[in-house]
Amino acid sequence: MTNNMFFIANWKMFGDLRAINSTKKVIKFSKNKKFARAQIVYCPPYTLIEQFNKITKNSKIKVGAQDCHFLESHGPFTGSVNANLLKIIGAKYVIVGHSENRARGDTNYLINLKIKSALNKNLKVIFCIGETLKEKKKNKTNLIINTQISRGLKNIKKNKNVIFAYEPVWSIGTGIIPKISDLEKQVSLIKKMINKIWKYKNPQILYGGSVNSKNVRQLKKIRSINGYLIGGASQNANNFIDIIKKTII
Ligand code: PEP
Repeated sequence: MTNNMFFIANWKMFGDLRAINSTKKVIKFSKNKKFARAQIVYCPPYTLIEQFNKITKNSKIKVGAQDCHFLESHGPFTGSVNANLLKIIGAKYVIVGHSENRARGDTNYLINLKIKSALNKNLKVIFCIGETLKEKKKNKTNLIINTQISRGLKNIKKNKNVIFAYEPVWSIGTGIIPKISDLEKQVSLIKKMINKIWKYKNPQILYGGSVNSKNVRQLKKIRSINGYLIGGASQNANNFIDIIKKTII
């Protein structure tokens, strides 16, 4: 395995200055040449982005946000942060379409606007797709994912700044991961779906959902996966480092 691997930490609505301090271990670790293939991205809450940028300044770790507003221009949207504001604060990545935000009202249409505005601001987009348990049980996985991809990418030309994250919703925060053979098939199908729209054979696809230091050796058998979007396990520096070590070595 020689390609770069992404390790995207989604801190969700967690994190304080003490937690930031503990990531100094990860920063030190990231400078070890043995793990140069690891592309680490921290996506903390908005409130910690600036602090994260400061402490990661002399490392190759990048910082991103967990969402953005769909409008590019500024406006009277109390509590919202758009891609332009993220750019100003120094974010390089943004997660869009996370199932926790889809559940709170993000439609495929809004997600499409968010992706467009983030790309216009030169942010790299981590575009989350994935089916719920109910959809899976009804055998609707492929239909749902195909719709999420085609609507999410509507009127967007092939763009290498979009990284896809397949996150089956039933796997997020549950400790359950898909069967390795099923996941491998699903990733290959997703690649075909993207190729159909963008004529792009090798899009970067991450897996997300309960990745931890115990299951990552299994997951890494799937060579077509370009890394992981990691929630819970990324909040502990030792666990996060362990996942990276076990993937790369
Ligand atoms: C996530 O929030 O994107 C995620 C994958 O969470 P967890 O790793 O905790 O399942």
